[in-house]
Amino acid sequence: MLTYLSLNRRSILTLNNTVRNINRFKTQKTNDYSKTLNLPNSGKFELSMKKICETEEQIKKIANFDSLYDWQVKNRSDRPRFTLHDGPPYANGDIHIGHMVNKVLKDIYSRFKLLAGYQVNYIPGWDCHGLPIELNAIKSLKKTSSKKSKNQPDISLNKSTPLEIRKFASDYAKSCIQIQMDSFKQMNLMADWSKIYKTIDTNFMCKELDLFYSLYENKLIYRDYMPVYWSVSSQTALAEFELEYNPEHKSNALYVAYELIQYSSDIKKLLKSDQKLFAPIWTTTPWSLPCNKAIAYNPLLKYGLLETTENKAYLIENDLISQVIEKVPFFKDSKRLDVLIDGNLLSGSKYTSPFSESSEILLPLLPSDHVGSKQGTGLVHIAPALGQDDFKIALKNNLPTNCVIDELGRYTDDDQILNKFELNGKLALDQQTANTIKKILKDAILNEHVHVHSYPYDWRTKKPCIIRSSMQWFIDTNRLKEKALEVLKNIKIRPNNVSNSMITTLSSRPYWCISRQRSWGLPIPCLYDSKDKDKKTPILDIKLIEKVKELIKEDGNIDFWWSDRHDKKLLEAIGKDESFTISKSRDIFDIWFDSGSSFNSVLGDTKTADLYCEGVDQFSGWFQASLLLSIGLNNTSPYKSLLVHGFVVDEQNRKMSKSIGNVIEPLQAVKGVPNKLPHAGLDTLRFWIAHEYYKPQIQIGGQILEKFIKRVFEMRSVLRFIVGNLNDWDHLEQNKISYEKLLPIDKFILAKLKNLTDSVYQNYDDMNLSKSINLVENFFLSQISSFYIKSIKDRLYCDGKDSLERRSAQTALYHILIKTLLMIGPVMPHLAEEAFHYSILKKLNPDVNSSLFRSNFEYKCNLEWENKKIEDLFDLVEVMRNKFYEQVQSDNSAIYEIDLECDRNLYDLLEVYNKETGSLNWLNECFGCANINLKLKDSSYDKNVINHDIKSFNVSFALNAKKLDNKHSCARCRKFNCDQNGQLCERCKKVIQIA
Ligand SMILES: [Zn+2]
Repeated sequence: MLTYLSLNRRSILTLNNTVRNINRFKTQKTNDYSKTLNLPNSGKFELSMKKICETEEQIKKIANFDSLYDWQVKNRSDRPRFTLHDGPPYANGDIHIGHMVNKVLKDIYSRFKLLAGYQVNYIPGWDCHGLPIELNAIKSLKKTSSKKSKNQPDISLNKSTPLEIRKFASDYAKSCIQIQMDSFKQMNLMADWSKIYKTIDTNFMCKELDLFYSLYENKLIYRDYMPVYWSVSSQTALAEFELEYNPEHKSNALYVAYELIQYSSDIKKLLKSDQKLFAPIWTTTPWSLPCNKAIAYNPLLKYGLLETTENKAYLIENDLISQVIEKVPFFKDSKRLDVLIDGNLLSGSKYTSPFSESSEILLPLLPSDHVGSKQGTGLVHIAPALGQDDFKIALKNNLPTNCVIDELGRYTDDDQILNKFELNGKLALDQQTANTIKKILKDAILNEHVHVHSYPYDWRTKKPCIIRSSMQWFIDTNRLKEKALEVLKNIKIRPNNVSNSMITTLSSRPYWCISRQRSWGLPIPCLYDSKDKDKKTPILDIKLIEKVKELIKEDGNIDFWWSDRHDKKLLEAIGKDESFTISKSRDIFDIWFDSGSSFNSVLGDTKTADLYCEGVDQFSGWFQASLLLSIGLNNTSPYKSLLVHGFVVDEQNRKMSKSIGNVIEPLQAVKGVPNKLPHAGLDTLRFWIAHEYYKPQIQIGGQILEKFIKRVFEMRSVLRFIVGNLNDWDHLEQNKISYEKLLPIDKFILAKLKNLTDSVYQNYDDMNLSKSINLVENFFLSQISSFYIKSIKDRLYCDGKDSLERRSAQTALYHILIKTLLMIGPVMPHLAEEAFHYSILKKLNPDVNSSLFRSNFEYKCNLEWENKKIEDLFDLVEVMRNKFYEQVQSDNSAIYEIDLECDRNLYDLLEVYNKETGSLNWLNECFGCANINLKLKDSSYDKNVINHDIKSFNVSFALNAKKLDNKHSCARCRKFNCDQNGQLCERCKKVIQIA
């Protein structure tokens, strides 16, 4: 039994079955009516996705993807402009799947805007400076030098010259850009790869220096001596966003008690006459104890006393006493005295330290509100140069703030105490040093234990950082924050749930240290008088900046900064002759300053982009750096909206890592890996990205991709059906039916199409991409595939080729094709172009360059498609249809006839359409039944009656399905309306005669 026209309402139509059935039909020898049917022909548009990558490559060529960006630059100059600014990926190694998520999202938005009629401005960029590249260059060189001759320069961290490092880093970055660009090119993104920006371009660097000087002039940038996060492993200062917090960091923590020598007589009264008083502190950085210069207390807290058997008393914040007793066995047998000491009574107290030049030198207890009562003892050890609060207290109380830890993490030679204890030159974080310190502290140590806590690490070397004071360049974030937070209120951030992250990270930002002490970067171009040993007073003016820019352009790089080649010219620029000895700044810019300044270097005069689109980590990185710099320069945001995506993980939610072996390379995900990943194609990956990007963790794996392939296949099937059934259109105006003549169901689907298109466009535009593509997919499956196509197939295949009924359905399909291609085009450009090129759309637009993305199709739908009345009618039809399905159960609905008894309202309503279209065939096709007998019944109904109240209708009806046992199916169309087997139905007879 042929079933190609039968309706299986309970499952989503699988169109490949239809194809199989058509083929069976064709080969059936007993029946030659097949030639009289209008069977679909989709030509080169194949159903199978087995060779999808090949197909996509062909489509890329046919639709000329490579020249699309350039085409729209040249041909769309009269259009509104959409600027998407590319956050530069780091030019290090090859790309990973996270890059693909990022670039594809950007591509989706570029293509959406292009289809929406805009000219797109998108210049891909690369971030080229910085420590990771410097280290990789060094590593690569070490490998090659060990293989090659011994004459190669030895580039190791401390031995190589800056110029040697810079040469290798520059070459390395450029080679990585090439590798990454080749990978991006294989993603068929819309871009002109011959026009890219790099942070090492001379123009970029010059613009960056302009920005720097402008902020410097406005006193938003200053030089200061301050404690900053310092990576001993990289020998440089780090910014907040270069820190990675390790929640499992283990510190060897100490409780150390210092003896108080001077203190208030009020406290003395609480002690026995010969009792000694101690101030215990708790520290997780024992290496800082040799640098102890004070103990801080909080004057607002209350302190208590613990008495030990040895007749010693220990001062501890009252709320912390029980915690300390629990943690420090030393206090196991101690006695808690019934006293409460006001913190402010500690004012003026002094103590002695084992790390002291002599026991006569006493150190102060100092008040500070940063001392809390959550952990420790309520008394805090202060090492002025080695902590932010320590530093503030030291400044306030005139304690020396010189740093006695050098850049390599060693105690320096210029501190008498360190020298006395022979700590000078020793590595502070070394275990041996720790042992030495403990030996010196001896009995002062009350307890030693391992403390597990969150601790900042260098994000690249994965080694713990310290806090260390040094002369650095800072951006005064405090002056920019308020404006930045205000500006943020008007920035559209999607998805909604992440929009607060930016505010939180920005508000908590203490300062921005923009200087690094490395070789691979843009130098902060200032000079110092050689006599200015601490480099406290930079010589920096506009003439110097202009000269440096001139020399960069002349040389094509700024390597001269590390040689004396142009020193004379630099001296001239600041109006000095050669008798003046200068030293050049050895600081380079933080790479976040480089990339954050890109709006100024890349976006032309407007310096503002419509969209920045990056991973969620950029709230504390590029989004923030760019915003702060733009506020500093222009008092405005560099972006109008932010689109944010999550990170890719495997199917078990695990981070991808080489050690687990779960890394999926982007092109592996596209092309597949035997026994691991299916052959998915670019569009399936793009579809997956459009669906999942907004999740904090974006899962990928074989099973997930299989599911997405299936979903893309279903949409592909629908498109192919539409393309195939429009194949006989050659003259648009002759073939198209005017709206008023369309059949009700065709009007209905156009009304749905309009609603959908409006909503999809709005969601794209509002950057709810996932919702957008979900709406399209649902429309394909629930409206088109499982309802509309099923209903109209009889008309398309069996009615006369030029009949109004068939052309009406085709007209609707034509509109559906264009609008759905516009809707899926941004996400699945290959599929959309495939449908364009293998359909009448290409035939009707025969220009060689014509393509979906170069067309003038519009998202905007004809206003007349909006038809509330018809939508309401079909809501009613659906209710009736469900009633019918309830009655026929799983039987073939085609062998049923319906007696539909209606009240006056419904009868009149259906009669209107009956007259308009000449029959109730349109209703038959919605039900997939053989026939409908419409009856008016004025009397009351039995219990089967449905009272229906839908919007404008208030109707009731009784529906009764009757099986047609005495009817036979038509030999041509298979409808059950013939009296004998092998007969043709009236419609088919007519069609064949006409044919
Ligand atoms: Zn027939």
